[in-house]
Amino acid sequence: MVQPKDGGHDLATRQVGGPAARHDADPAARHDRGPNAHGLAPNEDTPFVNLRDPARAVGPDGRPAVSHRAPLWADVPDERWNDWRWQLSNRVNTLEEVGQVLNLTEDERAGLSSPDKFRVDITPYFLSLIDPDDPNDPIRRQVIPTDCEHEAFTAMMEDSLAEDRHSPVPGLVHRYPDRVLMLVTTQCASYCRYCTRSRIVGDATQNFNRHDFEAQLDYLRRTPQVRDVLLSGGDALTLAPKVLESLLRGLREIPHIEIVRIGSRVPVFLPQRIDDELCEMLQKYHPLWMNLHFNHPNELTPEVARACDKLSRAGIPIGNQSVLLAGVNDCLHIQRALVHKLVENRIRPYYLYQCDLVEGSGHFRTPVGKGIEIMEGLRGHTSGYAVPTYMIDAPGGGGKIPVMPNYLISYSDHKVVLRNYEGYITTYEEPEHYQAHDKANCKYCQSPRAEAGQGGISGLLSGERLWIEPSGFEQTHRRGNESAHRLQDPSKWVPYGVGPIEGKAGQPLPGLEAGPTPPETSDAASTPGAPREPKFEYAPGEEPRPREGEATGWSHGELL
Ligand SMILES: *Cc1c(COP(=O)(O)O)cnc(C)c1O
Ligand code: SF4
Repeated sequence: MVQPKDGGHDLATRQVGGPAARHDADPAARHDRGPNAHGLAPNEDTPFVNLRDPARAVGPDGRPAVSHRAPLWADVPDERWNDWRWQLSNRVNTLEEVGQVLNLTEDERAGLSSPDKFRVDITPYFLSLIDPDDPNDPIRRQVIPTDCEHEAFTAMMEDSLAEDRHSPVPGLVHRYPDRVLMLVTTQCASYCRYCTRSRIVGDATQNFNRHDFEAQLDYLRRTPQVRDVLLSGGDALTLAPKVLESLLRGLREIPHIEIVRIGSRVPVFLPQRIDDELCEMLQKYHPLWMNLHFNHPNELTPEVARACDKLSRAGIPIGNQSVLLAGVNDCLHIQRALVHKLVENRIRPYYLYQCDLVEGSGHFRTPVGKGIEIMEGLRGHTSGYAVPTYMIDAPGGGGKIPVMPNYLISYSDHKVVLRNYEGYITTYEEPEHYQAHDKANCKYCQSPRAEAGQGGISGLLSGERLWIEPSGFEQTHRRGNESAHRLQDPSKWVPYGVGPIEGKAGQPLPGLEAGPTPPETSDAASTPGAPREPKFEYAPGEEPRPREGEATGWSHGELL
C-alpha cells in the first residue's frame, strides 16, 4: 500500500486558519500532481509517505511546504531566510520597521514608541505569520506592544513568583525539593509581551556569564537531592552552541542529576535553529526533555513541524506549556484546535498556565473560570494525550498549583484560594475587567468541531453554561447511571462520522434526522423485510455484547 488515503476534507480542515494555511496545503494541487508528493509511481518499491504528517506537508510546487513570508523580505534568497543567524540578526524592533510589515493601530504606535517598554524583537519569520490588517491577530497580540502595557492593576508584582527570594545563587531557583530552575540567559529569539520574567529577560546587562554558570553548577554538585534540572531563561537555545554544550556536559558530570529539560520558545520563533548539528549535540546528553511554548494553532507552521520532527527523532520527548491569554486563546475551540495540532506533531500538551500577575500583562488576564471551562471542554471530549493540566503559578512563590480538587480551596468573586503541595495557602486575584472572547468574530467558534450526541457539552460550547450538570440520579437503584450511558441513549447510538462533518456543527447529521438504526436482533435479521422493533431499553447486563462462544473483535484480531 503506497497511496496515502488522505481524504480531501481532512486536509482542508486541518489547515484551520493562519497564514501558514494559505500556503502549505492545497489538497487539489496535491492530488493533481499525481501519485504522491515525490512524483513517484505508487508501486511496491516506493516508501510509504503519509502526507497528513505535518512534517511531510508539501506546498503547491511539490516541495516542502513553507509559511507566508512578508513582502518586505520577498527578495531575500531562501538560503539566507532559512539561516537562523540571518533571522536573528535581522530581527525587527522599531516602529518604522514593524510599520513596513503591519498596518499599525494608534495603540500599537503608542506602544512601540514608548521609551520604557519591555524589549521588542521579532524574527522576520514570526512577524510574517501575522495578518498585517488584523489588529486582533493572535500572534500579533503576543509580540507587538500596545498602550495597555502601561496600565497598572491591583494585584501586580514585579517578581510575582518570588523567584529572586528562592535563588541560592544568581539564576538558580530552588523551590521544589527535587528539581531546580536554572536561568542561563536573559536573551530570547523574540519577546512575549506577557513574559513572567520581564524584570530581567531581554536585558543584556543582566545576562549570566561563565562565572554564574560555575556557581550554579557548584551549588548543584553540593545538593544531591536535585534530580531534575530545568534550563530556562530567557531561552537556553539562544546560547552559543558551544556554551550550551559545556553547560549540558557540566550537568551530566554530576551523578545525581537524572534528567535535564530545556524550556524553549526557539522552535516557535525561529524553527530554522533546530538543525541537524544542534540535534546531534543535544542527543549526546540524554535523558533530555524539552518543553516548548505554543499558544495558538497559527504557530504550528510547516517549518515548526519539521523542527519538532527533528527533535523527536533525536529522542527528545517534547511537551508544550501554553499561557491562557485574553484575546489570543481564551476560547475552547481555539484550544481544541491547538492541542490537536500539537499531538499531530508529537508534542504532548503539558501545562496550561493562568497568566501571572506581572507588570504590563493586565490586559491578557482571564478569570479562572475560563480555564476551567476549557478543561471541561477538553477532558473526555478528546484524547487524554491532548489534555494539559491547568496550573496557576502561586503568587508569592508557592510554586505551580493545579486547578483541581484538593488544591482549589475556594473560588468566589475575583478571589481564588489555592493550596500547594506543601499545604501552603495562597490567593490569586482575578482581573476585574475582562474583555470576553469575541465569539462572533472567531472563526473557530463559528465553525467548531462537531460533537454528535453530546448533549452535555453543547451548552458549554455555546457559552450558555460553564459546567455540565450531573444527570441520571433517578437511576441510582440500578447499576450506575444507565440513562445517560452512551449505549442506552438512542441519540448517542448512531454510528458517527459518515461523510464530511467538519464545520457543520449545529446541523443535524443525516443519521440523526432519519432516526437511529436499531441493533440487530437475531430473529429479525433472519427474516428479510420483516419490520424490526427498535430495542433501546436494556436491563442491567443486557447491553449488546457477544454471547458465549460468539466471535469478538478481540478473537478476530488473534486469528489475523
Ligand atoms: C516550573 C518550575 C519547575 C518545574 O516544575 P514541574 O511542575 O516539574 O514542571 C521547577 N522549578 C521552578 C522554580 C519552576 O518554576
Ligand atoms: S520566550 Fe519565554 S522567557 Fe522569552 S520573552 Fe517569551 S515568555 Fe519570556
